[in-house]
Amino acid sequence: MSRGHLFVLSGPSGAGKGTLRKILFQQLGGLVYSISCTTREKRNEEIEGRDYFFVSYERFETMIKHGDFLEWANVHGNYYGTRRADVETSLELNCDIVLEIDVQGSRQIKAIMPEAVRIFITVDSLDSLEERLEDRGTETQEQLTRRLRNAAAEMKYARECEHIVLNDNLEIASEKLADIVKSYRNAG
Ligand code: 5GP
Repeated sequence: MSRGHLFVLSGPSGAGKGTLRKILFQQLGGLVYSISCTTREKRNEEIEGRDYFFVSYERFETMIKHGDFLEWANVHGNYYGTRRADVETSLELNCDIVLEIDVQGSRQIKAIMPEAVRIFITVDSLDSLEERLEDRGTETQEQLTRRLRNAAAEMKYARECEHIVLNDNLEIASEKLADIVKSYRNAG
């Protein structure tokens, strides 16, 4: 029986992964988004069960012990994890699933599921990232500094990925992302 494709979007904070993912879901049908669990505090505009499942540290650690996560990582000081059952069910039902996770998680997924297609979303420089994060305004100065410090290391991961999407122009980048997904679907 055929299985769905697993697409893993990663890239530094502020590169536009979330925006590109949302456009991708408007452009193409038949995609499932893997909603992660996190111990991070919910932002005002976020909705429980749509953006994340917001859980306590205790709950997250219990889920780790139970083997509920396909991958998990400590990112910028909080836990984030992908629920194993969501991914396995989608793939078995022949649905394509999209994960939007950090570089550590992307590496873990590739190690256990070599068929995963990693797509790295990036911008041309750390200065652009800083500008975007400042414009977004969802982080404190301390959180922003931490995210930028991590970004430099994360950007080196690009060359390991199957695809890189440079998000300097949203229209071009979203077209490129959709083309990548379509190319795997067309190949079967
Ligand atoms: P944010 O706090 O901005 O929503 O996300 C911070 C970082 O955590 C982003 O790079 C995001 O892609 C990543 N992230 C979100 N969910 C997961 C997950 O389930 N696993 C891992 N490893 N990273 C995640």
